[in-house]
Amino acid sequence: MLEKFPSAGLGPSLAYEHADATKLDELHESAQACTRCELYRDATHLVFGEGPSTAEIVLVGEQPGDKEDLAGRPFVGPAGQLLDQCLEEAGVERDRCYVTNAVKHFKYQMHGKKRLHARPNSGEVQRCAWWLGAELELLRPKLVVALGATAVSSLLGSRVRVMRDRGRILRPSGRLDVLVTVHPSALLRIREADKRKEGTLAFVADLKRISRFLRH
Ligand code: SF4
Repeated sequence: MLEKFPSAGLGPSLAYEHADATKLDELHESAQACTRCELYRDATHLVFGEGPSTAEIVLVGEQPGDKEDLAGRPFVGPAGQLLDQCLEEAGVERDRCYVTNAVKHFKYQMHGKKRLHARPNSGEVQRCAWWLGAELELLRPKLVVALGATAVSSLLGSRVRVMRDRGRILRPSGRLDVLVTVHPSALLRIREADKRKEGTLAFVADLKRISRFLRH
């Protein structure tokens, strides 16, 4: 069931300002020169969304990780592999999906020689919504999937809570339908095997809502 939700956020609604382009590759090219926030300075690559322009489902994560930053491609690290596996278990065909992130450059802190993920702040998320909003405008998918708190905040605003609202499909007025769930990297951080298994099953259950939604 769809639930109408009056969003209080500044996310990339079709009604808000976003970059202008007629094709995804043109948009990707423009984003390469982005200096809307400071994150471009220390990242290796801009990591833009990837998938067919006819995708019915757009999955939105937080930001690229270390492996994605080096490869210049989204969801190619461990979290992406887990996402692919869970989508398959949920019966969602991967080639119907476009994957992207709320923030397109990797934010990190150095710990010795390691680059450790740092969460983007609300200003960075809002600035990068310029690109996410344009991707959604061009794709106009049937369903957007918000993976984790940063994507939820970008798409739906601060009143939606991942753990409280996960599994729900929300329709902010005038916007796209958005399924709320966790980010697969949160599952990878669970140390106890039985709790990780439980979390993965719950994630697959959330993703099963995609097929049910598209059938109606
Ligand atoms: S993170 Fe987004 S807004 Fe910031 S520089 Fe990169 S593309 Fe631009």
